[in-house]
Amino acid sequence: MPKSRGHICPSCKTIGMSIFYEAKNVPANSCMMFSNHDEAVSFPVGDVVLGFCESCGFISNVAFDSSKIDYSTLAPEEQGFSGTFNAYANRLASRLVQDYNLHDKHISEIGCGRGDFLALLCQMGNNYGIGIDPSTVSGGVESEASSRLTFIHDYYSDKYACQNGDLVCCRHTLEHIHDTADFINCLRHGISDTSSTAAFFEVPDVTRILHEVAFWDIYYEHCSYFNLGSLARLFRFCNFEVTNLQKDYFDQYLLIEAKPVSKKSQKVLKNEESVEETAKDVENFAMHSKEKLGFWKNQLLDIKNKKKKAIVWGSGSKCVGFLTTLGVKDEIQYIVDINPRRHGKFIPGVGKQIVSPEFLKQYKPDTVIVMNPIYCNEIKKMMDDMDISAEYIPCN
Ligand SMILES: [Zn+2]
Repeated sequence: MPKSRGHICPSCKTIGMSIFYEAKNVPANSCMMFSNHDEAVSFPVGDVVLGFCESCGFISNVAFDSSKIDYSTLAPEEQGFSGTFNAYANRLASRLVQDYNLHDKHISEIGCGRGDFLALLCQMGNNYGIGIDPSTVSGGVESEASSRLTFIHDYYSDKYACQNGDLVCCRHTLEHIHDTADFINCLRHGISDTSSTAAFFEVPDVTRILHEVAFWDIYYEHCSYFNLGSLARLFRFCNFEVTNLQKDYFDQYLLIEAKPVSKKSQKVLKNEESVEETAKDVENFAMHSKEKLGFWKNQLLDIKNKKKKAIVWGSGSKCVGFLTTLGVKDEIQYIVDINPRRHGKFIPGVGKQIVSPEFLKQYKPDTVIVMNPIYCNEIKKMMDDMDISAEYIPCN
């Protein structure tokens, strides 16, 4: 792997990162949707150049330019349409309320989106919540805890340090932040050494991406990639002690809980991957990414040659990463999503239209590419109920 001396690891500040993967001209934001095809294909692009830190095991897009993404102009993200995901969020909130005895307490959430999870925590324990997010809107979430929720439409910074409360949550946000140590230090500086404030962070796990060579899970707005080891080292580097570290949601997410300490913690948890183990995973990805791209290009060629009607199920970032990295043209015409707010819109990059599952009754696809295989059963059931038989190709 070529070593770039010009880059400093954003997590441990060591000079030099090893470059192991590049994807040029990908949409700068894969969550955006457009009302027409032309706008979708002319959306700004950026480069993904992944660098690996041999000191702390962190992976970062060294070509990331944060000025290309303005989260304040985006609609808050919502994932609340899948039963599987909702059940997970409920279980997690209930566990946190129990473990941290969150009753009549103050909770903050950085990157809260609409505020669904914060509302859950506040509902379950009669807590008070402050949600900080550049895309949040007051009244976006319906909850019996609404009167105890405050939303701040802004990026998190030191001026919100006094709002931390008894628990600071931050879910699926840190992977969007390039200067990871600066961000965690900013949070840490707002908490006194003796405070009982706990931090709970959740991010996607890069291990599966590296093992399965899941190139569709690498996209521009995710500039930071962690495994349990690199995540724990970041928190220790910023004067937190890691109190719990685990994987959840079908091992796709990493969960870390930490408390402030005055001196650097030496406590390493058993499930942390070493930097050397991570280096092997990175090597695996670097070696096999070309053949994986080749496999999918052949699948697309087969669809084209046999004139199959193929659709992709799931219009999120994975789908955009998949279609743009493969340079899909006419092999796939439609993207299906269960979220009615996405129907009729076009995805950035390749500019394909998002349709409802009901649309398939008339379209009758031969092939369904399932972006997230954990939804395979939900999808098959929906298709069976509509009396449509098709072949399913899961992305794994
Ligand atoms: Zn590092």
